[in-house]
Amino acid sequence: MTNNKNRKIVTRFAPSPTGLMHVGGVRTALYSWLWARRNNGTFILRIEDTDKEREVSGSIDHIMESLKWLGIDWDEGPKEEGPHAPYIQSERLHIYRQYAQILIDKGCAYPDPYTQEELDAFRAKADEEKRPFLYREHRTENPGTWDGHTPLRFKVPTIKRFEWHDMVYGDLSAGEEALDDFILIKGDGYPTYNFAHIVDDIEMGVTHVMRGQEFISSTPKFLSVYEALDVVPPVYATLPPIMGPDGKKKLSKRDEAADLFLYKDKGYLPNAVVNFLAFLGWNPGDEREILSVSEIITAFDIERIQKSPAGLNEERLKWTNREHLKLLSFEEQEEYIAHYLSDELKSHAGYTSEHLHNITPILMERITCGDDIKHMETEGELGYFFDMPTYINESLFGKTSKLTGEDRYAILAGYLEHALTLIKTITNTAWNKETLKADLWPYAEIVGRGELLYPIRFSLSGKEKSPDPFTLAEVLGKEETIKRIENAIHILNKS
Ligand code: GLU
Repeated sequence: MTNNKNRKIVTRFAPSPTGLMHVGGVRTALYSWLWARRNNGTFILRIEDTDKEREVSGSIDHIMESLKWLGIDWDEGPKEEGPHAPYIQSERLHIYRQYAQILIDKGCAYPDPYTQEELDAFRAKADEEKRPFLYREHRTENPGTWDGHTPLRFKVPTIKRFEWHDMVYGDLSAGEEALDDFILIKGDGYPTYNFAHIVDDIEMGVTHVMRGQEFISSTPKFLSVYEALDVVPPVYATLPPIMGPDGKKKLSKRDEAADLFLYKDKGYLPNAVVNFLAFLGWNPGDEREILSVSEIITAFDIERIQKSPAGLNEERLKWTNREHLKLLSFEEQEEYIAHYLSDELKSHAGYTSEHLHNITPILMERITCGDDIKHMETEGELGYFFDMPTYINESLFGKTSKLTGEDRYAILAGYLEHALTLIKTITNTAWNKETLKADLWPYAEIVGRGELLYPIRFSLSGKEKSPDPFTLAEVLGKEETIKRIENAIHILNKS
């Protein structure tokens, strides 16, 4: 028997190409990758495509693109060939046959001697007698030699209770009910998952296997094959399930999180997604919640993976993304924002790099992801940064005003006139929100804030909701601010 101790750590992610890369799959990939990177080990990507009926075309590319986007790089795998190539199971059929032959030679595999009809009859009889159906109760004395076209079954060597240690779930055990003569190689020549993954894990020297809870019940089968082959099994670390956003059901492929690229399209940063996924069942054991990828690698430990289900909390994802956006350099933030603005807005004459520069900090405070920028634009909350607003309804200038008389608009225009004279005294170099506030505040206290600050804000944005007037004026610059307030005065005087 070979021994796993003191060997280089080797982990693998072994997805079946049966659909889009979802959050659960990516979390498994991430944890396996983190463990390899943490230990200077090897991370392998292996494609388990032996169930041709369930295969969905395009999945392999989708899996690889998703991993690449997150920076989960593989040392061995498709497009990164290594000593155990090929890494796609359908190209490794000859290797499974070699292992099948070893089991046949050891008396641990036999060709299935029965037709489907005969098996159905055995099953029906077992049902009738209300006992579980087991293939191993129908073994024949002399099943003959295997022709490679009939299903090859495993002959469980010893029916016994298996006990094993799972690095997350602790000591586990399962009895003989979990053991049966399962199929190793199907009639179509492809191996089953139960057999192929064991052969590959042995061949590729995998030391640690991380996967979902659904594999626990089959573990005695796997251990039985390792025993028959006289190979020490890898260490198992079962990952906790991920619950859907409602916290009740396990995440399903129908949930939005079913497709990782939706997050990409919405503007989530790969590092934020990695940070978020890492916390779906693990934490570093201290108060840190925002970590860079290298900090996560250093802190990652299988011993700290939790057993209890992890909840997929979209609010937490948004918060995580926001925190990671703050970590970008100013130039990166500008680029990020520009990326989500429409081409229409960017081709507008009012759109200048200076404007983009000025609005970047304002937007950064208000968004959690790029989608929010798009939303703000479609809601008309961005146009006024680049363009003179149109005022849908003049009465809105007086929305917070206490004035009621006929002449109220003329009075508001008068307040704005005076504000303009104050504003004009500020030099271009001193033009910033602090100076503007210091300049206008005393006057606003006299006439009433609702009589002055709201009308200024509305003059500048044409919107009931927008950043405060000082921030807006700073971003727009002196000339544009004056122009907009003059325009508002003109409109109010006509009202
Ligand atoms: N191909 C299996 C799946 O996608 C992998 C399970 C394992 O990691 O062993 O579920």
